[in-house]
Amino acid sequence: MNRCLTILLMPILLLTMLTACGAATSTSDAGQQRLNVVATTGQIADTVANVGGDHIELTTLLGPGIDPHSYVPTEGNMTTLQNAQVIFYNGLYLEARMDRVLQQIAQNGNVTVVAVAETLPELSLLGWEPEAGKPYDPHVWNDVRLWMQVTETIRDTLSAADPAHAEIYTTNTAAYIEELQTLHNDIQAAVSQIPQERRVLVTAHDAFGYFGRAYGFAVEAVQGISTETEASTADIQALASLVVERQVPAIFIETTISPRTIEAVQAAVQAAGHEVKLGGELFSDALGEPGTPAGTYIGMMRHNTDTIVAALR
Ligand SMILES: [Zn+2]
Repeated sequence: MNRCLTILLMPILLLTMLTACGAATSTSDAGQQRLNVVATTGQIADTVANVGGDHIELTTLLGPGIDPHSYVPTEGNMTTLQNAQVIFYNGLYLEARMDRVLQQIAQNGNVTVVAVAETLPELSLLGWEPEAGKPYDPHVWNDVRLWMQVTETIRDTLSAADPAHAEIYTTNTAAYIEELQTLHNDIQAAVSQIPQERRVLVTAHDAFGYFGRAYGFAVEAVQGISTETEASTADIQALASLVVERQVPAIFIETTISPRTIEAVQAAVQAAGHEVKLGGELFSDALGEPGTPAGTYIGMMRHNTDTIVAALR
C-alpha cells in the first residue's frame, strides 16, 4: 500500500521539483543569479561574451599586453577562480604557470573547467615539443576556422551549465559564427594581395603557426612557441640571415613581448648590409585595450591582417 502511494506521488514530486527549477530561472532572468564565468585570455573572454550576452557575469584574467606564457596568478585571481561556476582557459600549456592551479580546480569537481584548445581534434593541431609534455602549439585562435569550433564548445558548455538560456546561447553562437565566417573570407581576400614569395611572417615568438597554415605564410620567429626561454644571439643571427636570404621586406613586433629581440634582428640585417623595415605591432597573445579596434577578437584579427598586408604587399 505504501509503495503504491509512493508511485502515485512520484509524478507530483517531480512536477514540484521542476516548478522549483522554473522559479530559479525567473530569478536568473531578473539578473540576480547570472552564471559566474571566468576566462583567462581576452580572445576567449570576448568570444564567451558574444555567446553568453547578458546572461553571464564574466571576468577576464589576462588584460591587454599580458603574456599568458609567463603570467603567474595573483591571490585575487585564485579567489576569482574558486568562486566561478564555469572557467574557460586556452590550455595546451599556453597559461604555463596557471596550468596546475586550473587542473586542481577541475579535479575538485565543483566548477566546470574547460581548456578550449584541448577540445579541438588532435589532427587539426600543429606540433610543439611532445618530448617535453607539450605536444601541440596552443595559439589556435589565429586560425578563424578553429576558433569557430571553439565558439561551439563555449556554447555547449554554457548551455549545459545554464540550460534555461540554451536557446539564446545557440542563437548568439549562430550569429557570431556568421561574423567569423566573414572575417575568415576577408582575411583570405586581404592576404591574396601579397605576392606568394613575400609571404614570410617574421615575429619575436612563434605565435602565428596556425595563421600561416590557414592563410598561406611561412612563419619564422626568434623565440619558440613559448616566451619562457630567452632568445640567444645565435637565434637572432640565424633569423637575420633568413631575412637577408629571402629578401623579407618587413618584420613585426608583438604587443606582449619587448621589441628588443625584433630590433636586434633588424640591426643584424643592417650589419649585413641590407634593410628590413619594422612592419608594425601585432597582437599575438592578448587583445588590445577595450574600446579600441583591436579590443575584440575579430578586431584584433583584422588589425593583424591589415598590418601584415600593408607591410608585405
Ligand atoms: Zn604565445
